[in-house]
Amino acid sequence: MSSNPNIAFIDLKAQQERIRPLLDKALTRVLDHGQYIMGPEIGELEEKLAAFTGAKHCIACSSGTDSIILCLMAKGLEPGDVVFVPTFTFVATAEAPALVGAVPFFVDVLPDTFNMDPASLKDAIVEARKMGLTPKGVIAVDLFGQPAEYNEISTIAEQEDLFLIGDAAQSLGASYGNRKVGSLCELTPTSFFPAKPLGCYGDGGAVFTDDDDLADLMRSLLVHGKGTDKYDNVRIGLNARFDTIQAAVMIEKLAIFPSEVDARDKVAARYGELLSGMAGVPVVAEGSTSVWAQYTVKLPKGVDRDSVQAALSAKGVPSAIYYPIPLHAQTGYLSYPKISNGLPVSEDLSARVISLPMHPYLETNQQDYIVSALKSALKDQQ
Ligand SMILES: *Cc1c(COP(=O)(O)O)cnc(C)c1O
Repeated sequence: MSSNPNIAFIDLKAQQERIRPLLDKALTRVLDHGQYIMGPEIGELEEKLAAFTGAKHCIACSSGTDSIILCLMAKGLEPGDVVFVPTFTFVATAEAPALVGAVPFFVDVLPDTFNMDPASLKDAIVEARKMGLTPKGVIAVDLFGQPAEYNEISTIAEQEDLFLIGDAAQSLGASYGNRKVGSLCELTPTSFFPAKPLGCYGDGGAVFTDDDDLADLMRSLLVHGKGTDKYDNVRIGLNARFDTIQAAVMIEKLAIFPSEVDARDKVAARYGELLSGMAGVPVVAEGSTSVWAQYTVKLPKGVDRDSVQAALSAKGVPSAIYYPIPLHAQTGYLSYPKISNGLPVSEDLSARVISLPMHPYLETNQQDYIVSALKSALKDQQ
């Protein structure tokens, strides 16, 4: 094996080098006009993102977490209302409903796509009703960059009269059939956290919707529940605005994002070829694309994941575990209801998954190095 080719888990430096002169100019423009709150870049970015996704409205806001909270507030949840969420996801998916006084109800995921299992959702709805709870909505998650099973899930949601939110914090730029993420369900929250496929240089997020009334409501909610102006307060809201300076950064990043999505897909395809037979490689459903927020593989059963991670690290290969503890087993969430079958798929995944370096600037020699490091780590265990 050749010497360590200096591998980043996510390489934001290479991306910055590519657009640095444009970023410098964009930041200078904001410093010159000085409209740090709700400056012209906000509207410009919102228009560009709406066009990019095909959604009618884009409402930029302060984080991915706040974008989910805005959706739930706009839906007018009452205390005790149940929102079904997958247990194998980032905590914010369940934190948002809990924070607004609703009840996150944990559902299992599918073993191949890692996304919410429609059958588990169906069972959970029945169980919730038996428990005397009031189901109100579903938050599906496009985990690791791949859209959830929206055809099945939206059918279930319609039959059961539940709203459907698609947590797209990891999937902006992906598609499902001929539609893009942002136009797959009534409300699509997303995140611009720096490590997401499309990130800014701080916290940020947005909500996409085609619904004029929900869009108006969220624009009010994100500025203290404003009416005609911010000193006319018609409802309880938040301070959840996006910063102008971050919007200026995002406009430059969005311009190169389609080419980055292509590059990510090439990296993932190559991983798939090199790793097949060695680890469980991720499966993208027929008709869908992924933006590969993470490249997450399943190690063979019985492999000691900690030693694999240590062996990779010793060779200079960064890796991460998304997610080591499913949300139903997190201390802060133990009191919330969950489907009664023990959520076996999520339990198994959280014990076996490992995410490898993934970004648009990963070179083939680096990828070869990562794969051979993983191969020898797995061989050491036989
Ligand atoms: C990152 C993430 C969020 C939260 O986004 P922030 O911008 O960090 O608040 C929500 N849901 C999922 C699935 C995420 O990955």
